Amino acid sequence: MNAVNAPKPVEKALQMLYNANMEAYAVGGCVRDSLLGKAPNDWDITTSATPKEVKQVFEGYRVLETGIKHGTVTVLLDGTPLEITTFRVDGQYLDARHPESVSFSRNLLDDVTRRDFTVNTLCWNPQTGVVDLCGGIADLQKGILRAVGEPDRRFQEDALRILRGLRFSATLGFKIEAETAKSILRNRQLLTAVSAERIQEEFTKLLLGKNAAKVLREFHEVIEVFIPELTPLLGCPQHTPYHCYDVFEHTLHALESIENDEILRLCMFFHDFAKPACRRTDKAGTDHFKGHEKAGAELVRPILLRLRYPRKTVDTVTELIAIHDTKAPKSKMEAKQLLRKIGVDNYRALIKIKRADNLAKADPHAIDKKLLQMENYLSEILENGECYSLKALTVNGNDLKSVGISDGPEMHRALDALLDAVIADTCPNEKDALLCFAKTLPR
Ligand code: ATP
Ligand code: MG
Repeated sequence: MNAVNAPKPVEKALQMLYNANMEAYAVGGCVRDSLLGKAPNDWDITTSATPKEVKQVFEGYRVLETGIKHGTVTVLLDGTPLEITTFRVDGQYLDARHPESVSFSRNLLDDVTRRDFTVNTLCWNPQTGVVDLCGGIADLQKGILRAVGEPDRRFQEDALRILRGLRFSATLGFKIEAETAKSILRNRQLLTAVSAERIQEEFTKLLLGKNAAKVLREFHEVIEVFIPELTPLLGCPQHTPYHCYDVFEHTLHALESIENDEILRLCMFFHDFAKPACRRTDKAGTDHFKGHEKAGAELVRPILLRLRYPRKTVDTVTELIAIHDTKAPKSKMEAKQLLRKIGVDNYRALIKIKRADNLAKADPHAIDKKLLQMENYLSEILENGECYSLKALTVNGNDLKSVGISDGPEMHRALDALLDAVIADTCPNEKDALLCFAKTLPR
């Protein structure tokens, strides 16, 4: 286990509360991640002091009542916002998500037992070192994610914990303890009570986790609660010489074969969603999935919108799904044609997508060379500043007007024809040559 090294403002806040005879600890994810040698996302402080007492301790500092109902105030300490929450006991949960009320406590045990998983209950301050009241250290050492207390009760209180559990298992690479795992599956339908935004947030973090594929394989039924479109992928055969897995298993292999970038992971998770609907088996028993890319983009768009992904994410992911099966260019000319159609960013993403897609097939290295070539074409084209877009043509609409081409469809056709010629190398990208060429175009 690594040591906990709290940032200066956190240490200072803990010290100030200690000096005021209050108990105070860094708690939860920050202690967990520190002990694992990872940089924590954020530092939360838990204290025996009531919000009123916290405000007194930090008199003279800016204190914002960010979650006062739940006992949270944010103190701005030397420019750093710190969330300080009073030890608390949650009241009844009636909506499977939020407690009806919370009450404050002076007892740390109350506060840690309301938390979700044992590894998230660890506390630390400079005087006590790590305080472990729920067996979090043993689980952290063994790599086990275990609900605090009775799993059914904890997931029924707050169903988001179901998805947080899968997310932590995926990101930390921890195994979910057997009773906790059974309870997650048993209570999965409760996720329907959780807002789309919170589901999206946890689902994205899950997909980005190093163990995402493993978690999805074991807990796909949980995901099917909010993405029922996943169900047909399970066991959907792919009787083709190229594939060795069913569509779901192929998806998981593709997912773990791509870097942990949100767009790319979303793209791999969803890329073959339309395969089951597009599957046709010929007389020889071979499956074909014609049109599954376009149909996939159409199928996935409403799913992403329903999960409240930002418009830009929805657009990019669906654009990539629609082109994911595009063949690698066989010549520099084809590479430029592709670049013209999809742009540099999507071209780069397509290389990664095709590589991951292929790594999940029967012959994982079948197209390595083609993809290397695809990369090389791009480097050459960019290094030489070779033209593949209308923007890079040395003539524009005004130039063409001067040789009698009129605005509108005729102009579009002419510019496209000139770009075709430059890409095909039948005309150099030089103004005079292009104007000459333009005059020869049929009107
Ligand atoms: P990360 O910040 O890396 O996403 P985290 O564990 O710090 O993970 P936060 O959402 O920052 O998660 O929450 C801080 C702590 O609050 C958690 O470690 C846990 O102790 C507690 N917690 C958060 N959400 C819940 C919940 N839904 N139910 C119970 N406890 C929770
Ligand atoms: Mg956190």
